[in-house]
Amino acid sequence: MSSAFDPNIQNYSTEAKIVATLERISEAFRVLLWNQSKEHGLSPLQVQLLIFLHYHSLEKCTVSYLAKEFNVAKPTISDTVKILERKELISKEHSSVDTRSFVIQLTAKGSQLAAQTSSFSQPVQQPLDQLTSEQKEHLLDSLLTVIQELNAAGIITVQRMCFSCAHYQKQPDGKHYCNLLQKLLAQSELRVDCEEHQAA
Ligand code: SF4
Repeated sequence: MSSAFDPNIQNYSTEAKIVATLERISEAFRVLLWNQSKEHGLSPLQVQLLIFLHYHSLEKCTVSYLAKEFNVAKPTISDTVKILERKELISKEHSSVDTRSFVIQLTAKGSQLAAQTSSFSQPVQQPLDQLTSEQKEHLLDSLLTVIQELNAAGIITVQRMCFSCAHYQKQPDGKHYCNLLQKLLAQSELRVDCEEHQAA
């Protein structure tokens, strides 16, 4: 079976070269996240959780949602939540109806740390600034298509982007339209993580 990591395959396969490239970029994310985590005495998952809680609405801040978001088991999230609570970075807000269920909130200290650590990806963003607007739009479109296919294959579980949204409509001329916002979306306006996303 051929592998995208075989340099001989890469010599004639653009797809294999792209896969190898994406793997290098994912490695860059892993290293940057790891460095940021070490600096603050946290695990990479703890940092990811803080950042997610900082930028998403409360209804997404539950153990079940976070387990799906990060592709880990619920007990792993529960353990991470316990540690972050001990460090006074998060607190639990219990439901008045069912005291066993709760949403997770950042404390002021957690919020400050989340804002600080969320810049860990800056070194990946910097080279993108050198691309032209057209190159960025093509790249975004291609990556969204890849993510959509991975989502359809069940590899990426949670998606909040336009292509997987019930409000999204591709026009006959190929343009993008959002039925909720009731407007055409330029290529650069397509969202990757939309708060109003509704699973199609
Ligand atoms: S609601 Fe958000 S994700 Fe859905 S189509 Fe509109 S902009 Fe895109």
